[in-house]
Amino acid sequence: MFEESAVIRWRKYTDRYRLIGNACKACGETYYPAKEQCPCGGKEFAAQQFSGKGRLLTFTEVKAAPEVFESKTPYVIGIVKLDEGPKVGAQICDANAGDLKIGQRVEAVFRKFYASGETGVLHYGTKFRPVF
Ligand SMILES: [Zn+2]
Repeated sequence: MFEESAVIRWRKYTDRYRLIGNACKACGETYYPAKEQCPCGGKEFAAQQFSGKGRLLTFTEVKAAPEVFESKTPYVIGIVKLDEGPKVGAQICDANAGDLKIGQRVEAVFRKFYASGETGVLHYGTKFRPVF
């Protein structure tokens, strides 16, 4: 049991890292993260690798954050529409809110999120940075 759950956890982790979602075989709609049922009724999917490139749909500056992110404020979170279709909520890094514009090009980067309190375990994930 332990082996299986560790494998599933690792797969979810690597899917996030590599921006892998899926595409409905019935209608072609793409999803990130992956879905198991499509609104069209389709239940068969193919893995889909996303480029990580897209446009910034909207963003906001966070000044009051949960404790684990407190030392990072202010930071910017936004919604990115990937070129392949799906919308992804993520932190926008390497830029101040004042430098960003709605509709501008962004690309995914793999970055450290935070370190767990006492264990110091580092958590990583996808953020997006502007492409100027
Ligand atoms: Zn579908």
